[in-house]
Amino acid sequence: MKNSYYPTIGLEIHAELKTNTKMFCACKNDPDEGHPNINICPVCMAHPGALPVINKKAVENVIKVGLALKGKIADLTEFDRKNYFYPDIPKGYQISQYKYPIVSGGQLLGVDITRVHLEEDTGTNKHDKGDYSLIDFNRAGVPLMELVTEPVIHNAKTAGNFARELQLLLRYLDVSEANMEKGEMRVEANISLSSDKNKFGTKVEVKNLNSFRSVEKAIAYEIKRMEELYETGKESEIVQETRGWDESKQKTFSQRKKESSHDYRYFPEPDLPKMKLHEAFDLKKMKKELPELPETKRARYKKDFGIKDEDTEVYINDPVLSSWFEEVAKILGDTDSIKLASNYITSDYVGLKKTNPEVKLIKPENFAELIKMAKGGYISSRATKDIMGRIVINDESPEKIAQKEGLLQQNDEGALKEVIQKIIDANPKVVADYKGGKGQALMSLVGQVMKETKGSANPEVTKKLLINLLK
Ligand code: ADP
Ligand code: MG
Ligand code: ZN
Repeated sequence: MKNSYYPTIGLEIHAELKTNTKMFCACKNDPDEGHPNINICPVCMAHPGALPVINKKAVENVIKVGLALKGKIADLTEFDRKNYFYPDIPKGYQISQYKYPIVSGGQLLGVDITRVHLEEDTGTNKHDKGDYSLIDFNRAGVPLMELVTEPVIHNAKTAGNFARELQLLLRYLDVSEANMEKGEMRVEANISLSSDKNKFGTKVEVKNLNSFRSVEKAIAYEIKRMEELYETGKESEIVQETRGWDESKQKTFSQRKKESSHDYRYFPEPDLPKMKLHEAFDLKKMKKELPELPETKRARYKKDFGIKDEDTEVYINDPVLSSWFEEVAKILGDTDSIKLASNYITSDYVGLKKTNPEVKLIKPENFAELIKMAKGGYISSRATKDIMGRIVINDESPEKIAQKEGLLQQNDEGALKEVIQKIIDANPKVVADYKGGKGQALMSLVGQVMKETKGSANPEVTKKLLINLLK
């Protein structure tokens, strides 16, 4: 029988911060600059004697993240040099933080955060040139946040969801675009497997994860790889190393044996002052001014609107749609109408939008009016969808369309009764079938009434009246 194994995962996530200028110089921080080596200067090109200056906005952004995670904001924080040689890091060291990060502790989706610190990004190597490589230093010195979690995650899905939630949080806080495909957010996963619940196994670190799906797949792959090594008595082959994720092969591969922190000979950056954050920032005010965060918004949607969790997520991920929906909800007022509106939005509106770029968010009044008509039974659900398909492009009044197109349902029972009686008289056989116990026959009569009224009869009302008249 197979043994039980306990996977442990800790994440290290980098995010490029949204600032006008770089971390330690006045060069533009422009992730979309296509021309190489445009946004560079003596500071970020490591010319001798050039001095760095701290970008306050970048520090503020990390503090915002720390406050949102309910972490501790350091009284005193400093930058350190992390020494290593690589062509994309012209100084021969990266300015990072080691002993005194800006943020310690905190939590997101129940996952404990170790720290969040600030550092500078490296340049980008271009290895696709043939027999030589080129380096673009536009990204060198761009403010980079690093968040480290405790080793408290135990499966791939939770790790993926944590990373998704962090992306959402960074966007809500407006501190990073955090686009994984563009490398604005980069996830590294540390994974270990143990046969003893109370002990950690040897961890590997997986890099090159360009999407949330790859994060999940690479973790699942590693857990399986290690499990097989255990099962075949080769657990000594699990070594502390850095592995890459090969997207085309859907496999991890060994890159290098892992260095440890003393290899970097960290020491405090002598060219920068230490920072007293409680003096430099009004932390209380910053905390008060944080926007509504995804978790708070979820709870509010659940309480105020009572809509399904997966529908709530549609709004959580689309702030523009969500504030529009809230305006519609305000006009409608009652929970049932709001739920109905939300159903039409998350299934039909979102569907229409996907297939037609002309579909837009219209005046909330017009959408609310449509929902009121549907809810009151003035138009059928078929007609509701048809009218919706038109108003989301033309932003017309749904009532006017319903009138013009004769889509208003007959709710006037007197007039409807006459039509129903006519249908009953003309169909003695079907009526006899119904009275003889064939429930299906009723639907045939409803269908004929609908036909006679050109679809304007309310089917529910018709059914009710038919049953009464046939008693
Ligand atoms: P290193 O010094 O090798 O960078 P750290 O202790 O700083 O290691 O941890 C780096 C990341 O690895 C953190 O996210 C941490 O949660 C995670 N981690 C530490 N030990 C383990 C382990 N045994 N299994 C999985 N992840 C781990
Ligand atoms: Mg590390
Ligand atoms: Zn510069």
